[in-house]
Amino acid sequence: MATASNLGFPRIGANRELKTYLENYWNGHANDETFYEHTSKLRIKHWKLQKSAGIQHIPSYDAPYYDHVLDVLELFSLIPFRFRHLDGLTQYFAMARGLSTSVEQIPAMEMTKWFDTNYHHITPEFEKDMHPQLNHNKVKERYLEALQYDIQTRPVIVGPLTLFQLGKSYESIDHSLFLQQLIEAYHELLNELAAIHIPWIQIDEPIFPLNQQDDFYDMAEKTYTLLSKNSPKILFTTYFSQLNKNALACLKSLPCHGIHLDCVRGDYTPDTIASLAKEKEAISLGVVNGRNIWRADLKHILSYLTICSEKLDHEKLMIAPSCSLLHVPVDASLEEKIDPHLHTWLAYAVEKLGEVRILTKALSEGSASVNTALSENQHILQDKRQHPDLHKKELRARMANIKKEDTIRQTSFRERRTLQQKKLKLPLFPCTTIGSFPQTKEIRRVRSDFRKRKIPAHEYEQIIQKETTKVINFQEDLGMNVLVHGESERNDMVEYFGEQLEGFFSTQHGWVQSYGSRCVKPPVIFADIMRPTPMTVKWISYAQSLTELPVKGMLTGPTTIMQWSFVRDDIPRSEVARQLALAIRDEIYDLEKAGISIIQVDEPAFREALPLQRSQWNEYIQWSTECFRLATSGVADDTQIHTHMCYSEFNDFIEAITKLDADVISIESSRSGMELLKAFTTVAYPNAIGPGIYDIHSPNIPDQEHMYRLLKDALRVLDKEQLWVNPDCGLKTRKWKEVRPSLQNMVAAAQQLREEY
Ligand code: GLN
Ligand code: ZN
Repeated sequence: MATASNLGFPRIGANRELKTYLENYWNGHANDETFYEHTSKLRIKHWKLQKSAGIQHIPSYDAPYYDHVLDVLELFSLIPFRFRHLDGLTQYFAMARGLSTSVEQIPAMEMTKWFDTNYHHITPEFEKDMHPQLNHNKVKERYLEALQYDIQTRPVIVGPLTLFQLGKSYESIDHSLFLQQLIEAYHELLNELAAIHIPWIQIDEPIFPLNQQDDFYDMAEKTYTLLSKNSPKILFTTYFSQLNKNALACLKSLPCHGIHLDCVRGDYTPDTIASLAKEKEAISLGVVNGRNIWRADLKHILSYLTICSEKLDHEKLMIAPSCSLLHVPVDASLEEKIDPHLHTWLAYAVEKLGEVRILTKALSEGSASVNTALSENQHILQDKRQHPDLHKKELRARMANIKKEDTIRQTSFRERRTLQQKKLKLPLFPCTTIGSFPQTKEIRRVRSDFRKRKIPAHEYEQIIQKETTKVINFQEDLGMNVLVHGESERNDMVEYFGEQLEGFFSTQHGWVQSYGSRCVKPPVIFADIMRPTPMTVKWISYAQSLTELPVKGMLTGPTTIMQWSFVRDDIPRSEVARQLALAIRDEIYDLEKAGISIIQVDEPAFREALPLQRSQWNEYIQWSTECFRLATSGVADDTQIHTHMCYSEFNDFIEAITKLDADVISIESSRSGMELLKAFTTVAYPNAIGPGIYDIHSPNIPDQEHMYRLLKDALRVLDKEQLWVNPDCGLKTRKWKEVRPSLQNMVAAAQQLREEY
């Protein structure tokens, strides 16, 4: 008999219940007791659901109030000093979100993306006087809670190797001592769990495949030698990456009872699986993709599993999703507005567990026992393969015809700069913004009323026109040099395009947690992408008609649209991005025709889409930069292309940025105090740069002197002709009362500088 198992269930709830509970608690509408009661009900509901889906290894301790890394920090008393005088939920949420009362202001801990997902975890902060030790044993508590409902669970916890690597320390700490204490704390936890006879624990070590030094393997060996003593059986769990030969060799001899492999991202022969399983009690195969929303090809997976099972003892096999189901929405059966054909293609968490169950049953009882399910699955996949929109002839012909010169601008940056300057006549240190202006409640309401058809189109358009006019007048009065229209017609920089492009659909229930109470609902790319009509020309032209100054056309780049969508799985991502690039190329062409001379193509997800494994970086950089250039290279020499990226880790990545050959790039840098510009000097970056000098993530109003200093710092590494003046990112989340004085100060700082040069 094989075992049906799961690695983690979405915590947010099918109707985003957790979001409601959190917000009620934060707003003071619910007390601690009510909050505990509600969140407990949600957990129990999810356990029961998994049990009735036939899952035998059901995860527990996978449903944190805010974040699973934060939970482990609490569990092992890894509380940064600034929070130590607090306790309970107040302390927990202060770490996650900061605390602001009449007596104190405590900054929140940082967040980082969880590997290459769009989920953000709290970044551990390690301090000198921290002593990792087991706090209140919540793992045990959760296990016993489930047991009350007769549900046997397998607790899940982030492992010590991963936790340690994800952490940061701002002061010098004795790393090996710290790690030693941390491992002992884990050991104590495991001993307590063994004492109440918990059979299995899942320890997640997604860092393991990424760290390939020999001493790391030694450390893993030592760590798990200790942890496995007097412990529940350990399922050492890796995901998101392929394990290389050395990693596999290390795992083979690692003292743990079972191993989980991501068989979607990793390609393992049945012989490899069998040899790994030899020394273990269990081998868990992550064959159902936990990172997409599509039905699996059960027949294909089953034939792989069957070969594996012939080579090893059946009893050892666990069948599972590739990773935690945290990264997919809860239940596709709730969708009501999706075309019935497309609907059948979808598998969210609930449906994925159904697939795990079918595969397990087929292995244990023979495929005849699940014949109906298998043929239904084949039928759906067949239907999907034959959908006419998947392969649009005209587009494919155009793609086959893409030439090298389509991806290269005709002249060098230097020549373009002269021509652009002749046309645009911008002063030194041109002032601009990144695109969006404050989105007031009224604007959001108008957009939503229009969507729900509560107000007619002409009324909606009038309001957006009024808002755009306000934004244009405001920038003119301020003395900005390159204006934006303000993006008041867009709720989201990806969804806006997804709604207008063929090949996309949107969902009602496709929510995934981004962090804490924040969820996103990515659009779905299911077919070939075409642009039936221009998407932005109307609003940009309207804005341009109001002013003599240049208005920037504002678009989202191919890699970002793709990265922030659920993507079809039948063609490579690079192909999808190429289709998007062509659609954007056409949009740019139309903007140019309409008289727009500056066009910005935002790529905030450019870095995030970088594969985890370094060996795959080159290939990614190759196609993603090519797609950007395909989108932007069709313009005249005197049309200026901008791009924007809102993060600041450019080391290792600067060559890719250079390859984009954008005339101007704006980046985030106010927080790092221009530090990151150093990266640009290492390659003598030739094009223009606008390092953000106004931190838009904070409500603070930066003064003129501060921004002037930042610009001066930038001029130490940049030529004066290279430097642009702008905020870090869009102003969408800020209030007018913050934006007004901040931009005034920004323009004044640029003016001050101009007087000197
Ligand atoms: N143009 C977008 C805006 O200003 C860019 C947002 C982003 O970089 N995330 O809102
Ligand atoms: Zn940004």
